Amino acid sequence: MEKIRLGKTNLFISRLGFGGIPIQRLNEDDAVAVVKRCLDLGVTFLDTANAYTTSEERIGKAIAGRREGLVLATKSTSRKREGVEKHLNLSLQRLNVKYIDLYQFHGVSDRASLDMVLAPDGPISVVEKARDDGLVKHIGITSHQIDVAKEAVACGRFETIMFPFNFVTAEAADELIPLAKKHDVGFIVMKPLSGGMIDNAKIAFKYLFQFPDILTIVGIEKIPEIEEIVSILEGSKTITPAEKKQMQKLKEELGTRFCHRCDYCQPCTESIAISTVMMYPSLVRRLPPEHLFSSLWGQLVEKAAGCTECGDCEERCPYHLPIRELLAEYVKLYQEGKRKYEKAQPSA
Ligand code: SF4
Ligand code: SF4
Repeated sequence: MEKIRLGKTNLFISRLGFGGIPIQRLNEDDAVAVVKRCLDLGVTFLDTANAYTTSEERIGKAIAGRREGLVLATKSTSRKREGVEKHLNLSLQRLNVKYIDLYQFHGVSDRASLDMVLAPDGPISVVEKARDDGLVKHIGITSHQIDVAKEAVACGRFETIMFPFNFVTAEAADELIPLAKKHDVGFIVMKPLSGGMIDNAKIAFKYLFQFPDILTIVGIEKIPEIEEIVSILEGSKTITPAEKKQMQKLKEELGTRFCHRCDYCQPCTESIAISTVMMYPSLVRRLPPEHLFSSLWGQLVEKAAGCTECGDCEERCPYHLPIRELLAEYVKLYQEGKRKYEKAQPSA
């Protein structure tokens, strides 16, 4: 598979990377088989996280005996020294490796979190020490918020930035990707299919393949998915006029309802996690129902039923989304789905 240089890490990696979220849904044997197939197809970059439950352990099993030449990336959501230290040790253990190639601060999407990560003697110093000790080779960051991402790139402490990028959410193309290039920070694409909102892999990946030197992480649940994407990478990358039209149509369809997860709408007076609830259509596709209806996700959607319709959030949303209307719609869909799911369960 075609390789690219990942910014100042100087790592040469496959242009497609494996994203470790969906394998949590599989049984262990199937999960290991999916990762192995990706490796067989030439994927050399694997991304996971402390927060992805079984993902690290399953990747660890799949790469046993073939670690050499692979670039392993994982991350921690902790903003405290002790938390990052604990997560890093756990990742080494679960992946069953002596070092991690890229250690990332996970989901740093507001200014306060970035300040916490960068504080003198804060979490970054733990990872820098681990790098001195050879336990980590490179340090990166992931974010959903463009201004925080730009600041992280410019501050000089991170070698990679991971950010959502696809033809629907394309704001990174304007400034963030050029800025990353200027600072020689490796750009890693998350959400190439916009969290499941884009259902046409061909146009989604053809768009991304127009940008040289960026790494695209794709979450894989089934072997045919990676086979299809690899064949897109190997085929003609020219976007046809018909494909351009398809992109435009999809952008228009999603445009007025698509949440960019920037969180400018916060703080909500009722502490509703607006951007998380906005992901509901994508969560339905990605999460198994038992997870969706009985986990923190479900609780967050249920909390949105308490929206008082004050409208403060809508005044702050730069995309002018009808937040109140969308929240009400997703809460209704959630409640209907949950009722159906519970009805289908065998009675105890
Ligand atoms: S309209 Fe609802 S979601 Fe928006 S700030 Fe008010 S309570 Fe929160
Ligand atoms: S609702 Fe608007 S402001 Fe809030 S996260 Fe989504 S796009 Fe950003």
